[in-house]
Amino acid sequence: MSHFTHLECGYCGKIYDKNKLWNLCPECSKPLLARYDLESARKNFTKDKLKKRESTLWRYHEMLPVLETKFRLSLGEGFTPLIRASRLGNEVGMKNLFIKDEGMNPTTSFKARGLCLAISKANELGVKEVSIPSAGNAAGAMSAYAALAGMKSFVFMPKDVPQPFIAECKAFGAEVTLVDGLITDCGKLAAEGVKKFGRFDVSTLKEPYRIEGKKTMGYEVAEQMNWKVPDVIIYPTGGGTGLIGMWKAFDEMEKLGWIGSKRPRMVSVQSTGCAPMVKAFNDGKEFAEMWTGAKTIADGLRVPAAVGDFLILRAIRESNGTAVAVSDEEIFESTNMIGKTEGIFAAPEGGATLAALKSLLNSGWIKKDESIVLFNTGSGHKYYNLWK
Ligand SMILES: *Cc1c(COP(=O)(O)O)cnc(C)c1O
Repeated sequence: MSHFTHLECGYCGKIYDKNKLWNLCPECSKPLLARYDLESARKNFTKDKLKKRESTLWRYHEMLPVLETKFRLSLGEGFTPLIRASRLGNEVGMKNLFIKDEGMNPTTSFKARGLCLAISKANELGVKEVSIPSAGNAAGAMSAYAALAGMKSFVFMPKDVPQPFIAECKAFGAEVTLVDGLITDCGKLAAEGVKKFGRFDVSTLKEPYRIEGKKTMGYEVAEQMNWKVPDVIIYPTGGGTGLIGMWKAFDEMEKLGWIGSKRPRMVSVQSTGCAPMVKAFNDGKEFAEMWTGAKTIADGLRVPAAVGDFLILRAIRESNGTAVAVSDEEIFESTNMIGKTEGIFAAPEGGATLAALKSLLNSGWIKKDESIVLFNTGSGHKYYNLWK
């Protein structure tokens, strides 16, 4: 049974009915967040229940928003390996270094988690057509789950995304529109179709459930580390659902009685070619300014503006974390270093987390004896042309 009770605006706090379809808060146009009856969850959903559960994110179904079992779509997403990276750790002089390998998810990225939940919930609420602007991985994941649900999917991607991203969506039966511009331009075009044809918009944080799928990364890290959270989590940030979701997960788990009050310091990594969150963090701002001329090999980080910017910045600050920008050269070099030491074909976004680790070790912000989790958010396969 799900303990989902209602939606609450992450900015103005207004409450919304869980049985209706919502996008942004109708009052202030900020993201809505799912809330649960944590008192009853604390009594009924104990950690030991997990022992017999399947190895997918649905193992936490009590704390997910889908109400009926038959609407839980699954391609085997989640419960990805948390790898102790000993050889990489040796290279950088660390003993407690881990990689959460999200490239092992269906459609080879952690986007599967978010879209699994968004599409399952949209299906439960009767949606027939879904639409997404995407830098690549989100579109593939949406198309896969939409196919599984028997929905029609409409994808809007920058025309310069690597070919495998496009091929994947087409194979899943999506209608693909390539846009001469960035993800923000794709968003504008997608919005026209939403208005004209009534398609449901599953853009990052513009519906409340992708973040619920992504928060399971936080549950898994805690469970896989035997309920001792790491000192630091390093996460590549685009729209920020993963970071915001994990931060929400730690709060929920404390209220469930699963973890104590210790939190990991959350590190947001971006590319120097597109670093709106790093700039806003350093300037002490509540919201980020739109980044102009965004350019990076890490497609998932090419997000000039994020609707959840204030939630990302809040999570970083509340956790005593930080935000770091790394260059594309450092990203590529670190992606290969993960490959050469650990046998993981990482996405450049994953490489970015190692580049950030090196920089934070150099500055002394991270100490060598701390426990660190790097998030490899995708697989290198779709970015194969970087290795030409
Ligand atoms: C989308 C994406 C990101 C950024 O994720 P957010 O949760 O939106 O910040 C990072 N890495 C990869 C591989 C992605 O596809």
